[in-house]
Order: sequence, then structure tokens, then C-alpha cells
Amino acid sequence: MSTPKDKRVYTFGNKTAEGNGSMKELLGGKGANLCEMSFIGLNVPPGFIITTETCNEYQQIGSDRIIEELRHDVETGLRHIEEIMCSNFGDTSNPLLVSVRSGARASMPGMMDTVLNVGLNDEVVEGLAKKTGKSRFAWDSYRRFIQMYGDVVMKVNTFHDGEQDVFDTILDEIKEKNHYENDRGFTLEDLKLVVALFKDVILKYTGKPFPISPSDQLWNAIIAVFESWFTPRAVFYRKLNGYPDTWGTAVNVQAMVYGNMGDHSASGVAFTRDAATGQNVFNGEYLVDAQGEDVVAGTRTPMQITKAGGQTWAHLVGISEDARARMYPSLEEYMPEVYNELNANQKILETHFKDMQDLEFTIQENRLWILQTRNGKRTGAAMVKIAMDMLDEGLIDTPTAILRIDPHKINELLHPIFDTKALKKIKPITIGLPASPGAASGAITFFSQRASELKALGKDVILVRTETSADDLEGMSAANGILTARGGMTSHAAVVARGMGKCCISGAGGISINYGTHNMLVNGKNYHEGDWLSLNGSTGEVFEGKIKTITPKIDGDFEKLLVVSDRYARMHVRANADTPEAARVARGFGAQGIGLCRTEHMFFYPDRIQAMREMILASDEKGRRIALAKLLPMQRSDFEEIFEAMDGLAVTIRLLDPPLHEFLPKEEKSQMALANAIGISLEEVKYKVEQLSETNPMLGHRGCRLGNTYPEITEMQTRAIIEAALNVKSRGINTLPEIMVPLTGTLNEMIFQEHLIRNEAKKVFDERKESIEFKIGTMIEVPRAALVADEIATHAEFFSFGTNDLTQMTFGYSRDDAGKFLSFYEEKGILKENPFSTLDQQGVGQLVKMGVERGRSVKPHLKIGICGEHGGDPKSIEFCHSVGMDYVSCSPFSVPIARVAAAQGAVKEHRA
Ligand code: PEP
Ligand code: MG
Repeated sequence: MSTPKDKRVYTFGNKTAEGNGSMKELLGGKGANLCEMSFIGLNVPPGFIITTETCNEYQQIGSDRIIEELRHDVETGLRHIEEIMCSNFGDTSNPLLVSVRSGARASMPGMMDTVLNVGLNDEVVEGLAKKTGKSRFAWDSYRRFIQMYGDVVMKVNTFHDGEQDVFDTILDEIKEKNHYENDRGFTLEDLKLVVALFKDVILKYTGKPFPISPSDQLWNAIIAVFESWFTPRAVFYRKLNGYPDTWGTAVNVQAMVYGNMGDHSASGVAFTRDAATGQNVFNGEYLVDAQGEDVVAGTRTPMQITKAGGQTWAHLVGISEDARARMYPSLEEYMPEVYNELNANQKILETHFKDMQDLEFTIQENRLWILQTRNGKRTGAAMVKIAMDMLDEGLIDTPTAILRIDPHKINELLHPIFDTKALKKIKPITIGLPASPGAASGAITFFSQRASELKALGKDVILVRTETSADDLEGMSAANGILTARGGMTSHAAVVARGMGKCCISGAGGISINYGTHNMLVNGKNYHEGDWLSLNGSTGEVFEGKIKTITPKIDGDFEKLLVVSDRYARMHVRANADTPEAARVARGFGAQGIGLCRTEHMFFYPDRIQAMREMILASDEKGRRIALAKLLPMQRSDFEEIFEAMDGLAVTIRLLDPPLHEFLPKEEKSQMALANAIGISLEEVKYKVEQLSETNPMLGHRGCRLGNTYPEITEMQTRAIIEAALNVKSRGINTLPEIMVPLTGTLNEMIFQEHLIRNEAKKVFDERKESIEFKIGTMIEVPRAALVADEIATHAEFFSFGTNDLTQMTFGYSRDDAGKFLSFYEEKGILKENPFSTLDQQGVGQLVKMGVERGRSVKPHLKIGICGEHGGDPKSIEFCHSVGMDYVSCSPFSVPIARVAAAQGAVKEHRA
């Protein structure tokens, strides 16, 4: 379908639509899917969508002009709804009400604003009461409208600085005075009083009356939704998820259907599969006589949609299954026919969209309406299980299953879980709903801002709230885990935590929080801010103190995913590992070799640093050789263990890289100890430290410049590598050592190093009368090396891109000092991403591409990889695939992530 640039409004409803599901960029995810659902014949309230481009236009030209531009189209859209609904907006005898909702191209749950029941005033409310014969319903809708409008459009709560929402405080006072259990207790008189009080509050705090014109209400709500794209929480969410500000939000204006029309009406949220575990079970929550906001806001605890869900819930409220079915019936028990229709709808939706759906529905007097569907947010575990199950079910093919994986979320599957042995010995202090799995321990804090502050100080925190709202996003992101006293599996806390992959327990009713005194009561025991808690998000159990954790294993669906990924990936995945332990972990995660062993890390261990310092402090080559001889056996035995762990696979060992001053003590006390240990004066130590200090150490005496000026270092390291390889070979271990020269910038540097390495290796072979195959290659991490890669390749058997240094030197940003300005640059949009985390394809990437091309121009089969931090970043890995690298190398824990990202690169290339 063509989308003329000036078409700003798209209508849908009555089994037709001007848009479709593929138009998410223009219509937002919600709008595009509403069109699609209308098309496939689901019962969707009619409406129209104002495009995301209009939001960007609004930002440029402001509200007056955008209203002028939109007026005709919006009025036409309204007529379209009126015709289908046989009622009129603003009419006092047959009124139509509308909802005004946000909707960006990717879902941002709860981050932007919505206004429901738009079109009510003192006269229309009477018309609505008369038309429906339900006065209580009409006034309940009116009070909801004023509350939402007052909050979202007139910003009443920002004018008042109390902790509590102004409107909720009024509702709570009336509930308390009349001893109502919840807002269903309000009588018609109460609601009329509430409406009057709400209007007074608006006038008091904003100085402006609540507007009575439905048309003004609608326009103001539309502008407020545009504005909500720029609220700090939406901006923060976008940053967290890497969504650009330029997307903008669409505005969905839709006929209201009412879940608050009494006992045969309800609102709910449902998932076609379990968003926490991925199990293929329909689940969700609903509330009778309620509007959608009530279900997620946690003001009343919602009930389960399916009977099975209800049963698992019974023990949490401490009642028998019979009592549960009476007091808290599932939708399946309460409205079986509507439930069956909903169940049929969810199946249609999942089959149509071929992914797990998160849908919202309203039941108005036994009639089912679907208000929204979107691909449901899910945990990392659910993401993997759903992709693999759908592959098995034949719903999707293997490439699609691979692309369904967000590689970053695989991290969650590698997070530690509680040690079951430790759990056996302790009892939970309370149990809530297992809203988002994982294990988390930390000190309690009750306030989001405090959580962020503590996190900044490096502390582990658990955020405990009665319920969370969009304003808690930053605190939730800072906390290790989230615990709420109220709310269900679809509460804000649960949905957002699952999206973040963060452990969360919601609806832990046994907790009562006192924000004023900063403590909480759990079964009669007091817990204060700072006390430690441990949460098991997979079971809902809350424990006192800190519990031991263990690293999870790769098995089941996760293993299957990695196996299918390896089948599609062209690149291999290696690990950056400096110790035998890290090598073993990496191999356990499927590393196909070691791409970088930074030998200097071995020198920092207490038993080695002394010999290293002796070497540095030696005044001549002879002294250095004596000290190096002490280091040789230590290096050799480390290499032996690493070779053993990687039996049969290649191991790239890099020669000494950092500037020598990094190994010397900075404080006088340690300098004194060093002087005493090696029998020289403190002054001599200080003199040497002074002598080694450099203005720009990163550009100074380091890398192959060290090995070329002190050849004995290269010789000792070569000997250690070759001897270790020969030693393990005699034990039946197959090694493929690759000796890597760091920081090469010129051909002669490479030739000099190659010569030293080959000579020393030959010496060892002659002494031992046996030999082994090995390779000599170099890092490409100095821009010049990329430029003259064709020359360097004549003396290198492999290249490994050191994109940490390459980024540092290409941008001219010091790796150690860039923190001072990088976050500012990102915030202001000067840089889109941190180039030290995600490879700058436009700049640094050009050098990488050139290095690969020039290197292969002289050696077509030159083995090429990457070992900078970017080797573990999914986006950068795809780039490495696209330039034809043979492998990426990353930290051991990133290996599974890289395996999937490598497969995604191959699948995307194939599909392009
Ligand atoms: C690099 O520069 O990318 C690299 C891997 O080396 P290091 O981080 O040790 O400087
Ligand atoms: Mg480097």
C-alpha cells in the first residue's frame, strides 16, 4: 500500500483497515496490529491512528499548527468511528467516548501516556447513564476520565510535591471512611462527590478548570500523548533499549468499550504462552467490573484467566481450592463462553503472528473485544524455549527461530542461580508470585532514587515497593531484584522486570511497607532499609540474608539453540582467556579455541609479580635475563594447563603488551617492600618508576616495541610457549599454538619479532630434538597496521583485530579517560553509541574492512579474527561476519551470545 507523505491518519474497524501489520514504523506497533486484527476479522473497537511521523512533525511545528494540519483528518476519523458505533462524539443523548493511546513502533510498556473515556462532561455523563441505564457505570467512567485527564494532560501531580497521587488520596479517604474494601464499593453518590472533588483539585493545583468541550479534551489528549514521547521515563527506556528518539509515537484514537459495566463486564491481559518460563500455556489475569488500567496498576489483585492458573494461585492466598474458586474464580469458571471465545482468539492471534502474543481485552456485558496484541516481552529462558518450541511445532523455520533470539538476553541464562543445597537449609520468610525468574540478593531499599544512588556506589540492592510505576524504571534497572507487595503477573513490576531480564517477585501480600519509617513488616518481623534479602524469582520465595549462587549449565532448549546456531554460523567463536580456569569455562560454553591469552595477566599474581619487577628494575640485559629465567617455568606451566584445557583447539598467545610501569608499585610503602626484597635502595626504585613514567603510556613503550627493544622478553615467552606445547604433546595433547605480536604498526616491527620467535623456537626444537607446528601472527590494532596490512601479511600467518586499541587510536579517545565525556556525548547525541562497546562501523569499521581486504590481497586464505571487546557484542559480530572474518573472540561468558550472533549474521546475509 502506498503511504503518501501527507497522509497522517489511518482508519480501521469493521473488518477493514487502511493500514496493516507491516506498517509498524509509521503506525506504531499497536496501531499496525489493530489494523491487522481488524483485517483478520477479530472484534476490534473501530478507530484511527495518527502516524509516528506526525509526532516528529509536532516536535518541529508545535501544537497549534499540528492541530490545524490534522483537523480535517481527525474529524473524518471520528465520523468513521461514529458510523460504525452508531453514536456521536459529544452527543448528550447517544454519546460516543474514545480512548487516546500512545504506541511506538516497539512496545514500551507503561512508558508513555493514555487517556480513557474522552468525551465526557456533566451533560454527556447523564446521556451515557440514560442510554445504558447504568448511572453508576457512567459516573465511574467520568471519575476515571477526570483522574486520567487531570494527571496526563493537566499534570496535576507535578504541581503538588507529595509522595501520593492527589486523586488516589481522595479515593483512599472515601474508601477508608466508608470501610470499602476496594473501589467497587463506591456508590453513585460517592462517585458524584469524587467527580466534584477531582474538579476542585484540578482548579486548585493548575489554576485552570477541567475543560467541558469534548473536542478540546480530544485535542489536548492527542497532544499529551505526543508529549509523553519526551517524558524522562520514556527517554530513559529508549536509552536502555537503544531505541532512537527519532521514532516518535503514534496516537491511537479508538471507540471506548467498557469493562466497568457491572458483573458481566471485565478487563484483562493475557499471554498466549508463559512469559516467564516459555511454557505453552495460555495464561493471564482479569478483573470484573474494571477498566484495563486496574489490571496492571495493582489497585485490586486480579484473578487468573484459566482454571489451572487459579489453582496454582490458591496457596498464595492461603485458602482451599474450593474457596478460591468461589472467591476468586478464573475467567474460565466465571464466564465459560466468553473464555472459550477468548481462547479461540488467542490461538488465531498466535498462529497469525507466529509469535507469543500479549493481548488486552475487554468484556462489555458478555461481549468480547480485543483491544491490543503485540509480541509479548519475555525472559531470556522463555525467549529460547518459545523459539525452539515453535520450531518443533513447525510454526517457524530454523533461520526465523535463530533471528527470534535477542543475543543480549542470553546473558540471563548464564546468570547465577541459587545453590539448591543452600536453599534446603532455609525457609522463606514469605512467598509472592514468581513474576520474573533468576536469583538476586541485596540490601533492601524502598525508593527508586536510592536504589540508583546505591548502585552507583557499587552496592547490591533489592528494590521493595508496594507496587511500581513507570517512575520506578531507573531504580528497577539499578536493583538486582524487585519485590512488590501488590500486583499480579501482569503488573507493571512483572512486565518491566521480565523485559529487563531482572528477577522479580510481585504480589507478596505478606509484606507491609512503611515508606515513612523506611521499614517493612513480614509476618510480624521488622526489616529495615539496608537489611539483606534474597529473591528466587522462579518460585516467588523471599529469603532473609544472602544465599550462595552457582553458575547454570547449558542444556535443554538452550543447548539445542546453540547447536542449530553453530550449523548456520560461518564464523567460529573463540574466547579471550588468560587462565586455565577461564579456558575450561570457555570450552564448557562451546569456545572453539582461544583467540587471545593476555600473558601479562599471569604476571600480576603475587608469586610472579616479584620476578617481573626484578626484570623491570634490572639495570642491564644480563639482570633482565636472570629475572626472566625465574618467570619461564611459571609461564610454561600456565601454558601447559591452558593447552590441556583446549586439547585439539588453537590457542593464540599474545606476547607482553602493557607499558612496564604498570607492574611497579605506586605507593611508597610498597616501593619500600620491593626495595628490601630485591636488595636495592628505595631511591633506586623511585628513580626507575620515575624513569618509566610516560606522558602517554598507551602510545609509549609497549606492545612489540617492548619485545623489539628487550628481545629477551620475546625469547623467554616464545620458549615458554614452545616448551609447554612439546611437554603436553608428550602427554598425548594436541596443541595448535599461535604466537601473536601486539601493536604492530610497520612491516619491520613484524619482521624483527618474527625473526626472534623463529630463532628461539628453532633453538628449543634443536635442544629437544623434536618439533611442533605453530603459527606467528599479529594484532591489527594500530591504524597504520590496517593501512599497510598487505605488507604485514607477507610476514604474518594470521591477523587478529584489537579493536580496543584500534578504536582508541582511530578516535584519539584514551580508553582510560574517555569515561569523562563519553556518557555526555551519548546523552547529547554527539555519539550514538559508546564506540568501545559497539564497533564504530563507519570509521573504525572502515579500517577493519581495509585490513581484511589488504591482508587477503596477498594471502587469500589469511586467517582473520577479532579479539577486542567488540568480539562479544552482537551488532559488531554481525559486522565481523559481513567483512569475512573467520572467527570472533570474546570473554568466556559471552561465547554463547557470540555463537548465536554469528549465526544471525549468516542468516541475515543469506536473506538479504
Ligand atoms: C585490543 O586492543 O583490542 C586488545 C584486545 O588488546 P588489549 O585490550 O589488551 O589492549
Ligand atoms: Mg590492544
